[in-house]
Amino acid sequence: MARALVCGDMLKASDIRGFLWAVLIAAGLGALLLWRVGGHRGRPPAPPGPPPAVARRTGCAAPAWRSAAAQNGASLANLAWAPFGPPETGWATYAPLVAHEAGTPCPPDSPGFAQAYAAWQAQEKLPADGIFKPEDFRVMRAALMLRRPFVLATTAGACPAAPDPATLANADAAEAYGGKAVQLRPGALAAYRSLVAAARAAGLARQPPRLALVSGFRGPGEEALRCADGGCNTLTRAHCSAHRTGLALDLYLDPLPGADPTSTAEANRRHMTETPEYRWLVSNAARFGFLPYPYEPWHWEWTGEAP
Ligand SMILES: [Zn+2]
Repeated sequence: MARALVCGDMLKASDIRGFLWAVLIAAGLGALLLWRVGGHRGRPPAPPGPPPAVARRTGCAAPAWRSAAAQNGASLANLAWAPFGPPETGWATYAPLVAHEAGTPCPPDSPGFAQAYAAWQAQEKLPADGIFKPEDFRVMRAALMLRRPFVLATTAGACPAAPDPATLANADAAEAYGGKAVQLRPGALAAYRSLVAAARAAGLARQPPRLALVSGFRGPGEEALRCADGGCNTLTRAHCSAHRTGLALDLYLDPLPGADPTSTAEANRRHMTETPEYRWLVSNAARFGFLPYPYEPWHWEWTGEAP
């Protein structure tokens, strides 16, 4: 009959001595651990911080992608293309959005960016060489545009009806650029306020009028007047602008000196996309329900209600 399994009765004297030493060492280590923990008792645990800068740089090194990174670095400044109709030089204006879509914090001319970009290309069934190309951007642009409920609605052939202005909420004078009257749907205004509060908590938009409302609701009549003098970029906008929904807003993003805050001049748009506020919006605005229009860094649409 099998003996009851008791560990002790199977051990020799030397084993017992070793066992006792192990117990003593374990007890010592345990006491040391308790002392360390006790020393920190009462203090909240440190919040997880951002990854150390060294790790980030290492993450962006990706030696196998150096050649693609060099090509991206050159096209970033020199690519001749026309992603939205008018000719443009370079793609730096879109780099923050492209990096965000590719899910990388790495600079657009880094090997780490090329590596992440190649993964995005593969996911989209594009040649995964890590090199930014206009034909790739067409795919990315379509994805960005078709996320906007307003675009989906207009693509289906309908122009959303404008809400009754009496149902709109008024922004405070301090929230509006130049103290002008800006109206939005109440939900969009509340979301805007949450977004600005979060940006300020992150240390941004501390200097007015950064992130102030340059424009909100514009009824069909006002839009037609704006477009009558040739001030519209496209004929579509003259007939059906997202601003008629009360869900679209234009934010002040530090235009070039002397430039209008909604000037579509290439240098002005690029300058805006270099601001920390814009970079923050690209990463965070979706948390508050806002989606971008890639061509106009200042234009964001709230998706909390149907247009
Ligand atoms: Zn706009």
